[in-house]
Amino acid sequence: MPKTSSKGYRSEFKGRNVGNDFVRELVDHILRKYHRRHEELRKELSKDIDHVYFVHELCQCRRKLLMQRLYPELDVARAYEPAIMLGELVHLGAETLTHSEKEVVKAKEVETRIGKVRVVGIIDIYYPERSVVVDVKYARRLCQEVPLEHHKLQVSLYAWLADAKYGEIWYITPEGIKPYSPVKPANESTAKHLIENPKSPMWKKWECKYCQYSKVCSVSML
Ligand code: SF4
Repeated sequence: MPKTSSKGYRSEFKGRNVGNDFVRELVDHILRKYHRRHEELRKELSKDIDHVYFVHELCQCRRKLLMQRLYPELDVARAYEPAIMLGELVHLGAETLTHSEKEVVKAKEVETRIGKVRVVGIIDIYYPERSVVVDVKYARRLCQEVPLEHHKLQVSLYAWLADAKYGEIWYITPEGIKPYSPVKPANESTAKHLIENPKSPMWKKWECKYCQYSKVCSVSML
C-alpha cells in the first residue's frame, strides 16, 4: 500500500507538480494528433481503394512504414523529444494566431501500377479565399539551404490536393522567422511517380542520420 502523508498526498506523488501534468498533456496531444488521428483517418479513407498514402509518407523513406509497424514504440518515443515538443508548441501558436482553416484534410485519388491510391494531406493552415496552403516548420537553425527540398515537395503536394494557387512554408526558428513562397503545386504525375518509385532512404545525405529506426534498420546508411 502507498504511504500517505499528513497532507493526504501519497508519498510517491510528492514530487509531482503542474508542469509534469502539462508535459503529459502535451505528449498526449502529440500522440493523438500524429498517431491516433492518422490511423483513424487511414481506416476511414481506405474504403473502395487499394492503398492510402499520407503526403508525409510520400516525402520520406518508404521503409519507415514497415519499421513503424514492426517497432511502434520507437515512433511513440519521439513524442518525448524536446525538439518535437517545441515544434508542436510552435505549430499550436501559429495555428491559434491565424484566422483561417487549420488541420485541413484534403484527398485525391490516383491510378497507379499498384492500384488505386488515395493520397491524403493534413494541411497546417489553409486560406481558401486566397487559395494558399501553409506548412509551418520549426527548426533549431535557419540554414542557408531553406527552403529544403523535402519541405518544398511536401507543400507542393498539399497545394495540389487543395487545388491551391501556391504553397508557403513558414520557417520558425530561434535565429529568425522566415516565410517562403511561392511553392508551385505538384500534379498527379508527381504523386504517381512518388508512389511507384519508393526509395529507402529517400534523402541519402541525411535521412538515416535523423531516423528513429536507424539502430535497428538493416538498410540504414549509417
Ligand atoms: S534508417 Fe534509413 S533506410 Fe532505415 S528506415 Fe530510417 S531512413 Fe529508412
